[in-house]
Amino acid sequence: MKEKLPKEITEYAKPYLKEYRKIYKAIERYDRICVFRHMKPDFDAMGTQMGVYQFIKDNFPEKEVHFVGDNHVSFTPRLFPETESLNNEWFKGGNFLAIVVDVGDHERIADPRYKHAKYKIKIDHHPCKAEIAPRATVCDKEAAAAGEIVANILLNWKGKTLSKEAARWLYIAIVGDSGRFMFGSTSVHTFAVAEELLRTGFDLRETYLTMYEKTVDSLKSQAYVLSHFQVSPHGVAYYILPKNVQDELKITSEQGKENVNMFSNIAGINVWCSITEDCNPKDYCWRISIRSKKEDISPIAFKWGGGGHAQASGAKIANLDELDAFIKDLDDLFA
Ligand code: AMP
Repeated sequence: MKEKLPKEITEYAKPYLKEYRKIYKAIERYDRICVFRHMKPDFDAMGTQMGVYQFIKDNFPEKEVHFVGDNHVSFTPRLFPETESLNNEWFKGGNFLAIVVDVGDHERIADPRYKHAKYKIKIDHHPCKAEIAPRATVCDKEAAAAGEIVANILLNWKGKTLSKEAARWLYIAIVGDSGRFMFGSTSVHTFAVAEELLRTGFDLRETYLTMYEKTVDSLKSQAYVLSHFQVSPHGVAYYILPKNVQDELKITSEQGKENVNMFSNIAGINVWCSITEDCNPKDYCWRISIRSKKEDISPIAFKWGGGGHAQASGAKIANLDELDAFIKDLDDLFA
């Protein structure tokens, strides 16, 4: 990498240098590498995964590197390429390195075959509920995005190149999970990393246009949300999207949360949620995306079968009979 990095970037790395060295060595040592991330992916999960993938391809063209997991309903293929479908043979015997990014617990990793890997690396900013990679883990709950940590690790790797393609993926990850640098998790380090990524010369305007492109149909979903949301006594706003409404609006259950941030800057609204029916026969439930202005909502998300961060978490309820109790838990934070 560059001879002289900004001090924010070198200072950030200091407590983790031992782990960084293990990560560099493992990537150098293994010829077969697969990058994993969480299911129901977002900008950070996919951007970080693609950033690592691209970096390895650029710097180690002789290595075989893959990325796996479910595709995103609207980001793929508009923004991210289709993920690869590797057969079980590839993972057999475990002779590969698994790099797991942006996911704190085993059950949420989008492809369980990471378990076969002889060596595992984990880089994340979620609370770690389980030891996924006991030999090489970098976990910083304060980081705005997993992409921010990965960018730091790669920028500090001397003698390696961060191409503008790899930098663009990591930038997308950071912009996505920091809410375009607006969430409280955004720090001087977040900006320092973003600056270094931007210096590689990728097209910022094209990147934002592709990230945030909307369809005319999506305006109809926004109109539905604006005319059907409710607000609890102490400022918890929420909207409910049953399956029949999703069909009417031509959206999938994954897209139900796309309008949640319409409530992010409204006076008197402290927390806002989307509540979306998921008719998956294996896991029928109502998925909830929770966002918060200030208060830490992650303990409540955890209580309701989920988890996440202080200002952005996910949870679920089995049916709408549980909704009042769930909203009351959030409402009580402000009573
Ligand atoms: P979402 O509302 O699905 O966009 O999720 C918001 C944040 O919470 C993301 O960082 C997710 O990774 C995290 N999250 C969502 N669901 C869960 C869960 N069941 N367990 C742990 N973290 C979650």
